Amino acid sequence: MFKMLKNDESEGGSATMLKVELRSLEQEDVVIQEQGLPQVLGVDLTPELNPAPLEIFCQLSKCDAVVSAKGWIQGKMLLSCDRCLKEFESGYKSFFEVAYRPADEAKEQDEEINPDETVETVFFEGDILDIADQIRQTVLLSVPMRALCREDCRGLCGVCGCDLNVDSCQCSGPATDDRWSKLKNWKPQ
Ligand SMILES: [Zn+2]
Ligand SMILES: [Zn+2]
Repeated sequence: MFKMLKNDESEGGSATMLKVELRSLEQEDVVIQEQGLPQVLGVDLTPELNPAPLEIFCQLSKCDAVVSAKGWIQGKMLLSCDRCLKEFESGYKSFFEVAYRPADEAKEQDEEINPDETVETVFFEGDILDIADQIRQTVLLSVPMRALCREDCRGLCGVCGCDLNVDSCQCSGPATDDRWSKLKNWKPQ
């Protein structure tokens, strides 16, 4: 199933792993299975977001002019906790599905593209499909809206700013309320 894909433009060849020649899709599906740091795979992501290797699986199949790509990515991203601001690694696995259409076909047959399609459509030009941008998008969509280093993170003290997961401070210590001190020695008669 897996095909090695040649690329003539680059010297190192490292950024070609996520590219597929349309020709190779004529006979059968192509499966891309790669693992590596995003920058090595040619995915444009900041190292802060993805310090760990990314695992990519993608199956491409061609039907008429449309190439459908379906797969998943798995990796770890570096997040900063909303409460204590500490950086922590968070694992994720995300699925994606996209339909690649030739850009010139889009101009000619604009109306034929069903707007109700749930699968995202991406237009491409040329004879080589590059899924790197789709991978990048999928990683970016995997960044959670809310990031907590752990569910019960106690955050930072609003007064002195110390990390309440590690330290305790006077300001956040158990508050003594004078109004109740009289009741301390009270006993029912
Ligand atoms: Zn935290
Ligand atoms: Zn404090």
